[in-house]
Amino acid sequence: MREFFQRRGKFRPRDVDQDGADIQIPEDLWVKCPRCQELVYSKELDHNARVCPKCGYHFRLRARDRIASLVDLDSFVEWDAELRPYDQLEFVDLAGPYAAKLKQTQAKSGEHEALISGWGTVEGRPIALAVCDFEFLGASMGSVFGEKLVRASERCVAGRLPLLTISASGGARMHEGLLSLMQMAKTVAALARLGRARVPHLALLTDPCYGGVTASYATIADIILAEPGAMIGFAGPRVIEQITKQKLPDGFQTAEFQLEHGMVDLIVPRFELRATIGQLIDLYERPSQQDSPNGVSAGDHREPAPVELGGHYGN
Ligand SMILES: [Zn+2]
Repeated sequence: MREFFQRRGKFRPRDVDQDGADIQIPEDLWVKCPRCQELVYSKELDHNARVCPKCGYHFRLRARDRIASLVDLDSFVEWDAELRPYDQLEFVDLAGPYAAKLKQTQAKSGEHEALISGWGTVEGRPIALAVCDFEFLGASMGSVFGEKLVRASERCVAGRLPLLTISASGGARMHEGLLSLMQMAKTVAALARLGRARVPHLALLTDPCYGGVTASYATIADIILAEPGAMIGFAGPRVIEQITKQKLPDGFQTAEFQLEHGMVDLIVPRFELRATIGQLIDLYERPSQQDSPNGVSAGDHREPAPVELGGHYGN
C-alpha cells in the first residue's frame, strides 16, 4: 500500500508506568486501536492502509486518503470543487449559528463540503467516485452534498461511466432542515436515471453509515459492498434499544450482521478493494450479446468517458 495516508492522530493514548504515573505519548506517534486496545506505531498503521496490524480493525479514512488508496496514481480529477454550502435558513442551535460552524469546520477539515466527487481510473478502468468525509460535520448530507452527488451521477449517465459511492455519514444535515431531507429524494431520483441508462452504481459502506444516507442513495446501488466491522443502520442501536425496550442481538448493525440479513452483498477488506472494484467494473463492462434498449451496449462507455465530463457545468 502506498504511503499517502496523512497522519492525523486523533488519539492521544496514555499509559501508566510501574509507579502508576501517567506517561504522555506524543500525539501522532502512536495510535490506540479501539478494538484490541493495542498501541500501534502510527507509521506502521499508515503502511498498513490504516488497518490495525494486530487485530484487523479498519480505522476510518478521510475522503482524500480513501480516493488515493483506490485510484491509480495522479489519475483523480475533482468535480465541483467550487461549490460551497451556505446557511440558507440562518440556522442557529445551542452551539451557535450554522454559518460559523461551517467556517470552523472548513478551516479544521481543509474541505469545503463533506462530499468529494470526481473521476479517476482503478487499475486502468475509468470510474467516477463520490466519497464522504466524516470529519466534515459527520459527513451529513446537506444541499451541496446532494447537488454534487447528483451532478456526478448525471455526468456518469452522459459519459457512461460507472459510479462508486463511498459512504460514511451520520445522515441528513439538521442545520439545513427540510432542504437537507430533500436530498434523499433528489439523489435517489438521479441514481434511478443512472440505472435506467444501464450504468452501474457500486456502493461501499464504511464505518459509520447511518440515517438519511443509509436510507437513500447509499443503499440503492447495484452492488453494495461494506468494509469489515463497519456499523451500518438507520437509527443507532442505543436509540433502537430505548424505543423498543428490547435487547438487540450480538453484532447488531455490523457489516457482517447486514450481510447475513441481505442488506449488504459483499464485505471487502481494504487491501482487496481495488482488485474487487476492478473486477466488478469488468463484469459490467463485458459487452453483452444483446444491446440495451437504447442501442448502446454495456461496454460502450470506455471511450468517451473522461473527456466530455463536466463541460456543461462550467467546471
Ligand atoms: Zn487492533
